[in-house]
Amino acid sequence: MSNQILETNLQFNSGLKKRSSTRRAIIHHSASPDVPASTIHRWHLGQEWSGIGYHFVIRVNGAVERGRPVWAIGAHSGVKGNGDSIGIVLTGNFETGKPTAAQMASLVWLLSEYLPATYGKLTVAGHKDIMQTACPGRNFPWAELKNRLEVASVPDWMQKLMVKCGRAGIIDPAHGHNPNDTSTKWFVLAVMVNLALVMLKAVKNPARHDELIRILEE
Ligand SMILES: [Zn+2]
Repeated sequence: MSNQILETNLQFNSGLKKRSSTRRAIIHHSASPDVPASTIHRWHLGQEWSGIGYHFVIRVNGAVERGRPVWAIGAHSGVKGNGDSIGIVLTGNFETGKPTAAQMASLVWLLSEYLPATYGKLTVAGHKDIMQTACPGRNFPWAELKNRLEVASVPDWMQKLMVKCGRAGIIDPAHGHNPNDTSTKWFVLAVMVNLALVMLKAVKNPARHDELIRILEE
């Protein structure tokens, strides 16, 4: 996962305007092979724009390259989208392929840490939510992104508690529990049954007993 923005020092034609509000992040695919921000910059200059329309370009290897300056109004989602949003493009074509794990990790970092530090929590949308387009492609994993952003917004201590309970066998981490989910009665009962089993097994197994204490005391 990338933890930095790679500067690209692109030269823009005049005409960049300051954005007065920032409420949304809008996701795109490049519908192209894995290309650097400088190539997209050239494409957009060719359309007689000021330069690259997206603010960030996430490469297949997870690198996050700077596009248009983050303070400027972008050119990626038309009049309904550009005025209050940051445009993020993932390279690739997600009508046919899908984003790499490294791209998703960098996108989650941008949306859950880097951008909120300046703008607070942003609404996340796809280009297709704003305009008539397939972008960012039918294979873009919206459910995964939503789940990861929810989990990423959870405080550290809650995440640690979840990991601890997973390691102790009280919950099943494979089910991707979100600490802030509400619990139904069956879930509470399932956790109690798991806890009873874990404890009863530990009673008969001194090594497991000590291990369990170590996990829960951490
Ligand atoms: Zn798009």
